[in-house]
This record gives sequence, C-alpha cells and structure tokens, in this order.
Amino acid sequence: MKFPGYGHAIGDEVLKEIAMRLERAIRKEDTIARLGGDEFAVVMESLKEAEGTMHCVQRLNAAFKEPVIVGDAQFVLSASIGISLYPQNGTDAHTLLRNADTAMFKAKEAGRGTFQFYVEEMTRYAVERARMEADLREAVERGELELHYQPQISLKDGHVVGFESLVRWRHPELGGLAPDQFIALAEDSGLILPLGEWVLRTACRQVTQWYSEGKNPGRVAVNISACQLGDYSLLDVVRTVLRETGCRPEWLELELTESSIMTRTQQAVSVMSELREVGVQLAIDDFGTGYSSLAYLRQLPIAKLKIDSSFIRDVSENEVDAAIVRAVIALGKTLNLQVIAEGVETCEQEDLLRAEGCDVVQGYYYSRALPAAEAGEFLRQEQHHSTKAVTSEPESLS
Ligand code: C2E
Ligand code: CA
Ligand code: CA
Repeated sequence: MKFPGYGHAIGDEVLKEIAMRLERAIRKEDTIARLGGDEFAVVMESLKEAEGTMHCVQRLNAAFKEPVIVGDAQFVLSASIGISLYPQNGTDAHTLLRNADTAMFKAKEAGRGTFQFYVEEMTRYAVERARMEADLREAVERGELELHYQPQISLKDGHVVGFESLVRWRHPELGGLAPDQFIALAEDSGLILPLGEWVLRTACRQVTQWYSEGKNPGRVAVNISACQLGDYSLLDVVRTVLRETGCRPEWLELELTESSIMTRTQQAVSVMSELREVGVQLAIDDFGTGYSSLAYLRQLPIAKLKIDSSFIRDVSENEVDAAIVRAVIALGKTLNLQVIAEGVETCEQEDLLRAEGCDVVQGYYYSRALPAAEAGEFLRQEQHHSTKAVTSEPESLS
C-alpha cells in the first residue's frame, strides 16, 4: 500500500488498521494473512456454498466503509475481492491462490469495492492481459495512441470555452479501444506515467497550435490519474511540457477525480497548490461520487466542479438526482467555483441545468469527442457563426 508523500509510517498504520478490521470481519475458524503490499488472503473452510460466501464478502467489504484516519490524514479505501472455491477451482493451495488472484484483477477492473468469482475463462483473460500490457508498453512509441477532444460549451452565451482531451488506442489487431479498456491496466502497471505524459504533451501542443492559428479554444482539460497525482514528478512534468510546447499555463486545465484527491488528501493539496502556482487551472472530476468533506473542499486550490454524469443521466426524471445537481451548483456558487455538467445528451437536461445556473456543459448533445482536425473544424465553424452574431464581444478566456 503506497501513500507517496506520506512515508512508510503512515502506510504501515493504515495497513494495521485494515488488518485489524479484516480480522474482526472473519469467523474464528478462518485464517487471514497478508501476502505482501496491499494484498491479503483469507482462507474460509466449510462455507455453505455461494450464500455463505456472499455473506463473508459483505462483511469483508464493510470493513472498508469507514475511512481510515491516521493523524490528521484520512483515507477512503476499498477492496477488490477475488474468490476461488475448493475443489472446483483447484485442489492445491498454489492453484487456489493463483485463481483467486486472477479473479481479483478482474474485480479491480470492474471498479472499486467489487468482487469476482473465479471462472475458467479468466485464465485466458489473464494471458490476454499480460499481452495487452506488453502492447501498451510500446503503444506510445509506435504512435498508436490518439487524443480526441470534446467541446465544453458555456450556457451563458453558447461559446466553446474549452475541450476535454480523451485518449484512444488504435490497437494493431484489436482496433480502436476506449480508455475503459486500458486505463486501469495502465494504472496497475505504472504505464500511466509515460502515457499520461504523452497525453499532456499532445494536448498542450494542440491547444498551442489552435491559438497560433488564431482560433480561441479556451482551455484544454487533461485527465490526471490518482497514480500521477501520487507522484511528485507530476509538477516537473507539467512545467517541462509547458515550456517545451510553448503552451501557456492558463490554456491548460487538469481534471483530478474527487476520489483520487480524497485518498491522498495532504499530498494532493500540496501538489495541487504548486500546480496552481504554476498557473494551471484545476477541476474536480466525477464530483459527487467521492465523499469529499465540505471543510476540505474549501481548502483546495480548485476553480471548477465537474458534476458526475451519473447525476445528469436521469436528472430530468429523477427528483433525487435533480436535487443533487441543484445542491452542487449552489455549492459551486457559494465557494465561487465554476460548475460544469458532463454527459448532457438532451435538450431537457440542458434546460434544467440552465435554469439551475450551471455554467458550462459537455456531452453528446453538443458533440462527441472529436479527432484534432475535426475539433479544430468545430471551433472554426462555431466561431465563424458567433462572430457573425456578436461582433462586439472581445475574445477572451473566461
Ligand atoms: P471521464 O473523465 O469521466 O470522461 C468522460 C467520458 O464520458 C468520456 O468517455 C466521454 O467520451 C464520455 N461522454 C462524453 N459525453 C457523453 C454523453 O453525453 N453521454 C455519455 N454516455 N458519455 C459521454 P471515454 O472517452 O470513454 O473516457 C472514459 C474515462 O477514461 C474518462 O472518464 C477518464 O476517466 C478516462 N480517461 C480518458 N482519457 C484519459 C487520459 O488521457 N488519462 C487518464 N488518466 N484517464 C483518461
Ligand atoms: Ca474527465
Ligand atoms: Ca467525469
């Protein structure tokens, strides 16, 4: 379990607390061991088939419900659980462990706090995964990655105020792959660092080019993974890339997910403050899904909240979602933060967001993420129309 910037002492304390909670969650006759790093194994004998297993999984997961507090740092953790059953999935310890491990990786991919039973196809999957990792290692050099750009539109005047950059992978055999199919792998393997640097450099180069062509793309937003935020070199990378590409800091925005900030609170704040000092704008991505405390939010050097698309999806029909969206917008206003809604697909959603005072929108209703050339064209057309409509308005970064 790594908490860069916190040192081993804190990591050890977190592990101890988790180990204690897990011990409390299992039965007297069960065995628990730490396999290394942040991996634990639990051996449970004579369970009553799936039902008993499910009950145990729930108890183990419940151990992660409350954040772990060490000193004044708070860690929101979750477990990915892989399960192998005796004798169906193996008759010796080695095979059972290996298959549980494979199932755990599958669980990790499915998202935080999930579990998976081992099934035979997973072995094939584990082999594929290893191959994919080897391929991804070379993807950057082979020029297989591509960056697409999704416009962000101001609800005030309909202008494009920025683009979110979203990575795609043209795999030589598998064809076009969406980030969901390889970002988790990149994070697990550490490949996210070179990949993230490529994305940052490409986005900065692109936005600089647009400005040099006389276009006004606003800001380009780049997604930053938790692992990148947990690495102090992020700051150097950002500075170097800005210098090398000629990109001005105010043309760049970094999107950090709420959960990545909340699991690395202290360090995240210090890295974020320095980024802010460089002049780069920061946004919280997937806002509403990561349990941030309000006291905390106030201290963060951020400019923007990005409401998670899960709240936008049914906002027109679902009262609870509408209430959450309303609350986030009000919160943004109070804290003097811009609020952007993503995943906007319909006119009804737009109407509601506008009525509530949301500043910026992004979603299929306006445009999908586009290859650079098409995004440039989108910008050209939009600005062509808007200069016809409002000739007096000076072009400026909002
Ligand atoms: P995200 O940051 O939440 O990005 C928004 C995702 O929603 C994108 O999916 C986008 O294409 C999709 N989307 C946009 N508008 C709509 C809409 O109206 N409806 C629906 N249903 N979806 C919409 P995409 O491109 O597949 O990216 C998925 C995730 O992968 C991103 O989620 C982000 O977390 C991650 N990702 C993408 N590019 C990068 C990157 O360069 N670095 C890192 N670390 N993560 C990335
Ligand atoms: Ca994002
Ligand atoms: Ca998001």
